[in-house]
Amino acid sequence: MKGTTAHKTTCCYCGVGCGVVVHKTRHGHISVEGDPDHPSSKGMLCSKGRNLHYTVMDTTDRLLYPLMRRNRQAPLQRVTWDTALERAAAVFKTFIEKYGPDSVGFYASGQCLTEEYYVVNKLIKGFIGSNNLDTNSRLCMSSAVVGYKMALGEDSVPCSYEDIELADCFLIAGSNPAWNHPIVFRRMEAHKAANPRVKFIVVDPRRTDTARMADLHLQIKPGTDVVLLNAIAKGLISRGYIDEHFIKNHTEGFDTYRLQVSERDMRDAAKICGISLHDIHQAVEYIGKSKGFISMWAMGFNQSVIGVNKNLALLNLHLITGHIGKAGSGPFSLTGQPNAMGGREVGGLSNLLPAHRNLADPAHRQEVADFWGVPALNPKPGLTATEMFEALKDGRMKAIWIMCTNPLVSLPNAHLIEEALKAAKFVVVQDVSNRSDTVAYADLVLPAAAWGEKTGTMTNSERRVSYLSQFNEPVGEALPDSEIIVKFAHKMGFGHAFNYRNASEIYDEHVRLTKGTNVDISGLSHERLRTQGTLQWPVPTAESNGTPRLFADHQFYTPSHKAQIKTIPDGNQSEPLSDDFPLVLTTGRIRDQWHTMTKTGRVNKLNQHIPKAFLEINPADAHERGIKEGDIVTIQNPRGQVQVPAKITEDIRQGVVFLPMHWGKIIQSTAARANNITSDLVDPYSKEPDFKYAAVEVKKF
Ligand code: SF4
Repeated sequence: MKGTTAHKTTCCYCGVGCGVVVHKTRHGHISVEGDPDHPSSKGMLCSKGRNLHYTVMDTTDRLLYPLMRRNRQAPLQRVTWDTALERAAAVFKTFIEKYGPDSVGFYASGQCLTEEYYVVNKLIKGFIGSNNLDTNSRLCMSSAVVGYKMALGEDSVPCSYEDIELADCFLIAGSNPAWNHPIVFRRMEAHKAANPRVKFIVVDPRRTDTARMADLHLQIKPGTDVVLLNAIAKGLISRGYIDEHFIKNHTEGFDTYRLQVSERDMRDAAKICGISLHDIHQAVEYIGKSKGFISMWAMGFNQSVIGVNKNLALLNLHLITGHIGKAGSGPFSLTGQPNAMGGREVGGLSNLLPAHRNLADPAHRQEVADFWGVPALNPKPGLTATEMFEALKDGRMKAIWIMCTNPLVSLPNAHLIEEALKAAKFVVVQDVSNRSDTVAYADLVLPAAAWGEKTGTMTNSERRVSYLSQFNEPVGEALPDSEIIVKFAHKMGFGHAFNYRNASEIYDEHVRLTKGTNVDISGLSHERLRTQGTLQWPVPTAESNGTPRLFADHQFYTPSHKAQIKTIPDGNQSEPLSDDFPLVLTTGRIRDQWHTMTKTGRVNKLNQHIPKAFLEINPADAHERGIKEGDIVTIQNPRGQVQVPAKITEDIRQGVVFLPMHWGKIIQSTAARANNITSDLVDPYSKEPDFKYAAVEVKKF
């Protein structure tokens, strides 16, 4: 249409990373449609993506100006950017001087753009001298990261969405892609519809929409995943469904593993998992007879006190069958957030350095220090997400800078987070929306530019780097997150190392740091991504068209170049159930909402799907407690309680209850906040919280 401009960009919600075309009229009216040229999504958008324009056009909740309070009792008042950032720098400098660099930290988000991650990572690790940068990717993918590193040598997702159409067996574990990664699931559905021999095996204590599509639904007891996967491995080995040539030439650790998995009787395994022996055998047959086997998993695996073990047990199935590094096969973690992978590329976790370098490696530290022009990096790992809030509560940390995330709703054991924010001496909240519950605890509120108001890049679940274009000016005085951090770096006295004119220059610096690594993107720039479209890393040269599949040569990133088959214990380490708290609480997402609903909760169409929080409970558990459909129930344990209406359904296993994780104080009330009662136990390796297993009791309110 005359006067309308079209802008190609990427959806800002989940890790599918769908391509979006934004149309903007000369009067500023915005509409969106799927980008038919985007290889990940091929023109499709889910309900959240299709309604992105509403979140752009309605700016009523936006933070428009920096706000500051002089003390905790005083109200937030409008100040200039100079005043805000000078105060922040003065406070940070005081704490660093008095208590050392580890007294401050940044808590960022998998929704940050790669450039934003890069500058905040460089600021704290290179110049402030602490590694206290963690992100909400810790709550999302960190168990997968550790699993990949231990088994394959590096945090590298081997396959691509194009493998979906080449596979004939899918094991979907701890994931409901029909709701949470809808466009990936549409591709899987279409593939199955065209090829009815394709098998779906779904592992989930709930009968989700994904499970309804399954040829085999293994409705296991929570926490028994490793027992199940080891039993499947035993079946694959005993029936000769393994690739001995691959095991011999490209893996290490098989003999010990075989011994371990052979020890448990299959009947015992079935009993522990709460499913039939026949179903385990059926899974073995489906996987064993497949030509292309893909496993997909998400938070049901990662958000666990044994999240790394679950990941390793799943990766082992690929390593013993040789289903990795070839068309239509591979382990495929479904990233929750749009740019959790980009964050990992720049080293945006407290134990990582840029381009998948390890903080623990002195040579890697020196490489990065030399590149940034500083003498050395602090070797001490920084605090992880939950550790930072514990440190704020007990006074080891004094100040926290929270970017683009709402920890008061999203972190486990919310009352502890509340106490931590109250105890903190200085809290900066840098966000788009005043609907973030965390804003109420801020001493300084910094307005950030939203999707469409800035440029940058993101990497989706299949290692595909996409460019996000700007089609709107930031509202009020909001600034892009990277610009805010760069301005702050200048106020801290590090301006000489933060002289960027735009996000493109930040990206170029990040790209230079990847040269020669396994995540080499030397062939990428904003200009190339903008004009030529998306590419999958590694992209080592300007001539390279990216790498759809890793490990095609079966050379893994371990020192021996062999993949590691890990022998792992199969027990769960979650908090025990008891007579007082006999039910397992698991949490998760609903189809049309995103995280803590600060964006999607403003869209009427999306709120119509499921307007209020609820508790899913099995009829037998409800009957035992005298609970009827729609009754308000209290779900409680020693950490707190939640009150929501009951939804009685056979879709959930007896002994398990489910709460959606989206609702918080601003959106509904703290009574609906699932994280009032979630467990803050964490996986010992990944430090990812055990969101999917808390001991609770349910009573009629
Ligand atoms: Fe956005 Fe994910 Fe939906 Fe695609 S599937 S439109 S990336 S929310």
